[in-house]
Amino acid sequence: MKLLRVLPFSKYLLSETIVAGETVVDATAGNGNDTLFLAEHVGDEGHVYAFDIQQAALNSTAERLGELNERVSLILDSHDNVEQYVTGPIGGAVFNLGYLPYSDDLSIVTKPETTIKAIHTLLGLLKKGGIIAVSVYDGHEGGKEERDALLGYVKTLHQADVHVIRYELLNQRNNPPFLVALEKMRDFETVKQVD
Ligand code: SAM
Repeated sequence: MKLLRVLPFSKYLLSETIVAGETVVDATAGNGNDTLFLAEHVGDEGHVYAFDIQQAALNSTAERLGELNERVSLILDSHDNVEQYVTGPIGGAVFNLGYLPYSDDLSIVTKPETTIKAIHTLLGLLKKGGIIAVSVYDGHEGGKEERDALLGYVKTLHQADVHVIRYELLNQRNNPPFLVALEKMRDFETVKQVD
């Protein structure tokens, strides 16, 4: 298959940029699929910082990681506080927006302000050539507002600083996700924004 689905394409982009030994961030650990993928990629010398605001998500992630737990810091805090825990450069970061699958409380979802603040901070920490991959689900309550805020934000990023793509399959049913991927094009601490 050439035209990958959204989640495999997100992993493909990250695997093209992350090098063994690097520090990387899973901004929405959830059930740990992306955390495990990142832990495998960074190897023995690398480290993953995985954030979630639900202890149940971190427990589920810890279980999924098994022995690879030692490569991962599980952080019970919002991803917009990433700067309190992580110093750059980071090799990449991943977000899966929305709610924790199989949770009893599907009303706990990512929010526009914190998602955008986290991406903005992570862009500063990212290495040149690094990727932030954001899988966007907009089917739940508040999802469309978050989607629109995110798309509005990424369009303000100066094209010399960051390249941004949107990738989606157009003929899937049941609110499939789409991907927003950002690649840092040159070194900066704070990305330039334009109107
Ligand atoms: N990537 C995950 C996986 O592999 O299972 C799925 C992530 S799930 C779609 C979204 C997660 O984001 C939920 O577990 C939710 O608790 C978490 N979340 C919501 N707001 C957050 C925030 N401000 N900071 C960190 N995590 C947050």
